[in-house]
Amino acid sequence: MDKREDIYVTRASLPPMEEFEELMKDIWVTHGLTNMGKYHEILKGQLKDYLGTSGLELFTNGHLSLEMVLQAFELEGEVITTPFTFASTTHAIVRNGLRPVMCDIREEDCTLDPGRLEELITDRTCAIVPVHVYGHICDYKAIEDIARKHGLRVIYDAAHTFGETVDGRGVAALGDASIFSFHATKVFNTIEGGAVTWNAEDPELSWLGDRLYKLKNFGITGKESVEYVGGNAKLNEFCAIMGICNLRHVDQWIDMRRDVYLQYKALLGDVPGVRLLSEPSNVRFNYAYMPVIFEEGMSARDRIYDGLCAEGIYPRKYFYPCINAFACYRGQMDPDDTPVAKRMSESVLTLPIYPELPLSEVERICSVLKRLL
Ligand SMILES: *Cc1c(COP(=O)(O)O)cnc(C)c1O
Repeated sequence: MDKREDIYVTRASLPPMEEFEELMKDIWVTHGLTNMGKYHEILKGQLKDYLGTSGLELFTNGHLSLEMVLQAFELEGEVITTPFTFASTTHAIVRNGLRPVMCDIREEDCTLDPGRLEELITDRTCAIVPVHVYGHICDYKAIEDIARKHGLRVIYDAAHTFGETVDGRGVAALGDASIFSFHATKVFNTIEGGAVTWNAEDPELSWLGDRLYKLKNFGITGKESVEYVGGNAKLNEFCAIMGICNLRHVDQWIDMRRDVYLQYKALLGDVPGVRLLSEPSNVRFNYAYMPVIFEEGMSARDRIYDGLCAEGIYPRKYFYPCINAFACYRGQMDPDDTPVAKRMSESVLTLPIYPELPLSEVERICSVLKRLL
C-alpha cells in the first residue's frame, strides 16, 4: 500500500536548481562570501523596487531586523504591542531593555485594536509595534493618528506581508519603519534573512539607513573607529543569491497560494462552527497563512488538531499560547488582560498552505476537518 506523504503547514519555496547554481559559480571565482558583497547589493536594489520603498537594509533574519531598528531609534521606556504574534516581536522589545505593554486585538482580523490603544499610553510610552498578523494590514491610519498625537514612533512587524500593497501603496512605506522576515517558512525566503524598510525621502529619517548598516556590522564606522554597540546581523552572499532567484518566482507563487486559499474558502466558507478571516478588500493579499477559527473554542480546535495529525496532516496553532502566557513573562503579563487575543489563540488553527499544495489535498484536508467537527 502507498503511504501518503505527510502534509505540513508550509513547505519552503525553492527556485529551479540551475538558476541557483548559475549565480553560485561566480562565488567560486570571487570567493566573496559575506560582508555586504555584490549579491547583497543586487538583492537590496531589487527588493527596494519590488517592495516600493526608498529605504531598505538587509539583515541575517527578521528578528535581528526588529532588534536593530528598535535600537536605532534609541527608544526608552514602554512599547505598546500585541500578544497575538510570534515570540520574536516581544522578545525584540525586551532584549532592547524596553517594557512591552500588551494591547488587545480586533476579532475580525486579529490585528492591534486602535480603540484600546490610547488607554495604554503613559508618559513612559515611546513607541507602538503593531503586527500585520497573517498578512492582515493593521488599521494604520488610526494607529498613526494616535501616534502622531502623542509623539510616538510606529514600527511595524511586517514579517507576514511580503508582496502586499494597501490602498495602492507598498506596506513597506508605512509608519516610521517596518521589518520583514525572509525565513524559509515565509512567502519569500533567502533561507534565513530579513529587512528593515522605511521612507528614505523623509528628511527626519535621513540618518536611519547609515545607522542600521553600522549596527549590523558591530557598530564599526571606519577603519579605526567604532561608534555604536552593534552586533553581527549581515546577510551572506549564499542567502542573497537565494533571494535573487526566489524573487523571480514570488509573484507566481502568490498566485498559486491564492488558488489554494480559494479552494479552502469554497469548501469551508459556509461550514457552521468555522469562521474564516475575511480577505481584506483594500489589500493586494499574499495568502501567507490559512487561519481558521473554531467558534466552539479550544476543545473543538484541539480535537481537530489531533485528528488531522493522526491523518498525517500537520496544521499549527499559530499563535497559541499568546505571548502574555509565555513562561518567560510569567508575573509580568497576564493573558486575561487581552481577552480577545486569548480567545482567538485558543480557537485558531492555521491549515497547510503553500504554492504546490495540490487542490485535491485541500479537499481531503477539508473533508477530514468536517468529519472531525
Ligand atoms: C517569522 C517572524 C518573525 C521573525 O523572523 P525570522 O526571520 O524568523 O527571524 C518576526 N515576527 C513575526 C510575526 C514572524 O512571523
